Amino acid sequence: MWIDSHCHLDSPEFDADRDEVVAQSLAEGVEAIVNLPGHVDHFAQAKATRERYGCLTGYGIHPLWVAGPAGRSLREHIGELRHWVSREKPDLIGEIGLDFFVADFNQSEQEWFFSEQLKIARDFDLPVSLHVRRSQDHVLKHLRRVKVRGGFAHAFNGSAQQAAEFVKLGFCLGFGGTATFPQAQRVRALLRDVPLENVVVETDAPDIPPSFLGTMGSTARNSPVFLPQIGVILASVRGIAPESFAVATTDNVCRTIGGK
Ligand SMILES: [Zn+2]
Repeated sequence: MWIDSHCHLDSPEFDADRDEVVAQSLAEGVEAIVNLPGHVDHFAQAKATRERYGCLTGYGIHPLWVAGPAGRSLREHIGELRHWVSREKPDLIGEIGLDFFVADFNQSEQEWFFSEQLKIARDFDLPVSLHVRRSQDHVLKHLRRVKVRGGFAHAFNGSAQQAAEFVKLGFCLGFGGTATFPQAQRVRALLRDVPLENVVVETDAPDIPPSFLGTMGSTARNSPVFLPQIGVILASVRGIAPESFAVATTDNVCRTIGGK
């Protein structure tokens, strides 16, 4: 049995067939899905999704959405998140982090906001799901300042040295569609070398479609239904039996989220 450690089940791409997607995922051997709405306007939908399907659920503001709904200050936006967290008791805080793919885009706002979200995770003793894009060292700096109980660095794409720093801080690294492509050599090398107790699998559905849905960067809809197939490819990259890989990665998610 597998766990999809990073998924956006409330995306409009699933509006037409969400029930079928969840039922089929379960039938394929996906025992749990971590659902991350990422925007305060989607929290109510995520609450309904959690009640309907029993998803593990994270509340958090994605770094590209820190500006939030019009007319709200960053401080009010953070206050709103804190309110949701204290009322709904999510399983984790996420997807949060820093995205410096577009240079100078909101960098100082993103850093302030990330730090405040880490404090919420610390105050409620929750793990975090991290978005780390061209920002590994900055994210590490904040994690050293605000100590949280660990979590996941999703779609990890840093260097081996940066990976080792996340591992040292108790984080699991998430691997998914990208590592299914033979040309993704650096990510595949990380997948082989990171300690097994720090590896989790994810789809990031509807994004990051795996190799069997098309070429790298295609716009095909990814889905948690595909997680076992992705897991089998990742297990072969790692050189481990798929069953053992499923057990290990599932244990890693349970250990990271559970025990509260
Ligand atoms: Zn995501």
